[in-house]
Amino acid sequence: MRFNTALLHGDFRGDKATGATLTPIYQSSAFEHDSAVKLEKIFHNQAPGFSYTRISNPTVDAFEKRMTALEGGIASVACASGMAALYNAFCNILRAGDEIVSSASLYGGSIDLFRDLESFGITTRYVENNNLEEFRAATNEHTRLYFAETIGNPRLDVTDIEALAKLAHDNGVPLIMDNTVATAYLVQPLKLGADVVVNSTSKYINANSSAISGVITDAGRFKWDEDRYPGMKEFKKFGPFAYTAKLRNGLFRNTGACLSPQNAFYNSLGMETLGLRMERVCSNAAKLAQFFTENYKDITVNYPGLTDSRWHDIAAKQFGDNGYGGIITIRTGSKEKAFGIIDALKLPLIVSNIGDTKTLVIHPESTLNVHSSEEEKKTAGVFDDLIRISVGIEDIEDLIEDFRQAVDSVENL
Ligand SMILES: *Cc1c(COP(=O)(O)O)cnc(C)c1O
Repeated sequence: MRFNTALLHGDFRGDKATGATLTPIYQSSAFEHDSAVKLEKIFHNQAPGFSYTRISNPTVDAFEKRMTALEGGIASVACASGMAALYNAFCNILRAGDEIVSSASLYGGSIDLFRDLESFGITTRYVENNNLEEFRAATNEHTRLYFAETIGNPRLDVTDIEALAKLAHDNGVPLIMDNTVATAYLVQPLKLGADVVVNSTSKYINANSSAISGVITDAGRFKWDEDRYPGMKEFKKFGPFAYTAKLRNGLFRNTGACLSPQNAFYNSLGMETLGLRMERVCSNAAKLAQFFTENYKDITVNYPGLTDSRWHDIAAKQFGDNGYGGIITIRTGSKEKAFGIIDALKLPLIVSNIGDTKTLVIHPESTLNVHSSEEEKKTAGVFDDLIRISVGIEDIEDLIEDFRQAVDSVENL
């Protein structure tokens, strides 16, 4: 099955018991069983079934199966938010004394999370520009994972996943990718060698900004060395499912950031149109980027789809004909101009979000990166004259007209 067909037809579909075409919202915290022995088996992972929604739930399970199929993995765990998913994905395998080597171009929340992990003795070394030599140089005997975003938010640099996965594996560590901005529509990181992929499904997967959630999907390929990952030892019996089994029977279950069935349902609805929306969003973003480049000399446009982008070649190689994503950033020359343009826009919503059907704008420097140091902002590509635009599925003519009047209105600032 091809991309759009696979989004609709799979073993996650409907409800066999009633014929309902959508898996219903099983709004129940607990699940009843015929006998004590049945529930004992479920608790010992010896029988399939549901016991308590903090651990699993049929509506959430259907959404997880869709995400597994979408990312080409073997299993997924859905969490209450993208941040909960990232925390669980990392800490499932880390302990005090361990180190992460990460791209410096990250979502602000991830930088904040890595700072929080320092209290638990987990340190992060940052690498700029996805430079492989620097990744190698930052790796030592304490390194336990590599992390990067497929398309950095908001820097919009593109990671060479295949090359980074190879380097990770040469050093005996897994590569975890955040695929939120690119989505599986552009690329499936697990197919290029990444071991675990995390999505903030609050964004493009959900489609309409109707629910916060995040999903961890495992490729099931990484060979966990018992000395380096002692916690994995007792889960080796689950074979390729070791990572997911440890998560669901451990940190995920015990920290309790589970996804609600209602929100899983919204995501299952939204993701059916992921392919159609991404096609439109990529096309709109490319046209808007072109519009700025052709009409405004003092506005610098950053979009991996522009041939003069430093990341264009790797993006073209990795994403093929699918497009270059729906986010563009522009540098306007000053914070005053950036604020002026944002306030003059009539269609885009001023919100700290991406991946909606509607176009969204934000000034990251004063909002998303407010906790970042000057150095962190610089390496994350955040400047005080920068606007991030998450392009929606509106008619492009209307978007261009609106941006034209907004930019022209601040000409003399
Ligand atoms: C939004 C986002 C997150 C965090 O996800 P939440 O669902 O808001 O917790 C993580 N990574 C990236 C790239 C994001 O855009």
